[in-house]
Amino acid sequence: VKRTPLKARTSLRRKTPLRSRSAGMFGSGVPLKRSQPGRHARIKPVSDKRRAENRERRKMADATYGPAPECGIRWDENCRGLADDLHETLSRARSGGDITNPDICVPACRPCHSKVDDNPAEAERRGFLLPSGRPRKAVAR
Ligand SMILES: [Zn+2]
Repeated sequence: VKRTPLKARTSLRRKTPLRSRSAGMFGSGVPLKRSQPGRHARIKPVSDKRRAENRERRKMADATYGPAPECGIRWDENCRGLADDLHETLSRARSGGDITNPDICVPACRPCHSKVDDNPAEAERRGFLLPSGRPRKAVAR
């Protein structure tokens, strides 16, 4: 059978996007290009495990403190009154990363939260930071 050789009659054109259309973690889609051998894959900024814990933590905070809790620290006159964050009285290293335990959480406004972080000795004196090895709330000395 005699065949005529194939000839390119139209120029090459991209029909699929370089990025998938599905909204991924960052909304703009995930690059379709796979990581190549010898190159590093991108590390997720938050692991699946931590994302699940953060979700659990938000649920715990809403159930425990409601939508607009007051600051539980009241460090000084710069206190804003309403909490922005959840302060953990036990550092994550000390609690083994258990960030969903309401026993070690105190709602805190941003200024008070910073004060606690910047003044660990005073914060421990006031009972907002627990020394290691004590899982319960500190009592005033
Ligand atoms: Zn405060």
